[in-house]
Amino acid sequence: MVIASGEGVWLTDTEGRRFLDMLSAYSAVNQGHRHPHIIQALIAQAQRVTLTSRAFHNDRMGPFLEQLCALTGYESALPMNTGAEAVETAIKAARKWGYQVKGVPAGEAEIIVATDNFHGRTTTIVGFSTEPQYREGFGPFTPGFKVVSFGDVQSLEAAFNERTVAFLIEPIQGEAGINVPPAGYLQRARELCDSHNALLLSDEIQTGFGRTGRLFAMDWEGVRADGVMVGKALGGGVLPVSAFLADRRVMDVFTPGDHGSTFGGNPLACAVASAALDVLVNEGLAERADTLGAWFKAELEAIPSPHVREVRGRGLLLGVEIKAESGPARPFCKALMARGILCKETHQQVIRFAPPLVIDRETLQWALGHIREVLSA
Ligand SMILES: *Cc1c(COP(=O)(O)O)cnc(C)c1O
Repeated sequence: MVIASGEGVWLTDTEGRRFLDMLSAYSAVNQGHRHPHIIQALIAQAQRVTLTSRAFHNDRMGPFLEQLCALTGYESALPMNTGAEAVETAIKAARKWGYQVKGVPAGEAEIIVATDNFHGRTTTIVGFSTEPQYREGFGPFTPGFKVVSFGDVQSLEAAFNERTVAFLIEPIQGEAGINVPPAGYLQRARELCDSHNALLLSDEIQTGFGRTGRLFAMDWEGVRADGVMVGKALGGGVLPVSAFLADRRVMDVFTPGDHGSTFGGNPLACAVASAALDVLVNEGLAERADTLGAWFKAELEAIPSPHVREVRGRGLLLGVEIKAESGPARPFCKALMARGILCKETHQQVIRFAPPLVIDRETLQWALGHIREVLSA
């Protein structure tokens, strides 16, 4: 299957077969493929100016950052391109904050991360991955990270010390198989960061911008992180656009020249991202994901399947875990593909369902018919 075109929630391959996209490029296409408002912004900006570098101001970056900060409630935002770069920015900010503000001795800052984390693919980031395949052959790795068991409060409590500058966490782990932490975990993480004077850093690159039925997945527990990484859907399914969000007390550790990106904040990306945020708000995508996701999850749970171990997730970020004795999830995904539904297994046993948030109930209903047949067989 080779994709040749896309519109809304649908993709068409080179043979003219149509597929429902239930992966959404790992949640980068929340607004659907080629959303007219976003494509229009892309074309209009392409006809004016596309790249200035950060040596000069452009008339798109300021308004975009203002819109992003107003929507998310942070005082400042630093634009980058890929998600991994936003994570690298968060790591640099936390370390510098640790040395300048907290007073950690030079070169000793520690950042706590969770087992089965996925924060991107740079050498520093894969260095603290617990997935052997992501690390194998890429060392030596950056020191200064401590791994705790995801969702385990005791393991987290024990990891803090006077050199801890941050706890970096995905509020719901995407790649690891849609792992939702136990209720109260994120609140407890907030308290522990406060009592140890460390920053809570939330990687919302996959979970952010409505995917889980809230603006951010942290909102489910009413937790406000000190720093947030956003990406994927910020680019509206068109361009790589990411950002690190924080208040001034954290962001201001960066002074001109400390950090940078040639393409970060370029006018084309800013115009596209601005339009992507418009769509998110104007079409109420978080509310859609909340309502449709709760209904879709209940329907998945009601399937009388001998193969399903558990259905988990929030909003339209759902995982169906296949029992080990039923074999891996991949053949189920292939059976769905043959019926015109695209999804992809994650971590062997889990089918991830994450359609564009512009999907409607009728289309999901149609998909459910096929999912029901495939999972009951
Ligand atoms: C996809 C993802 C990243 C990395 O984003 P890239 O744009 O691929 O660099 C980081 N964190 C999470 C949680 C992700 O899902």
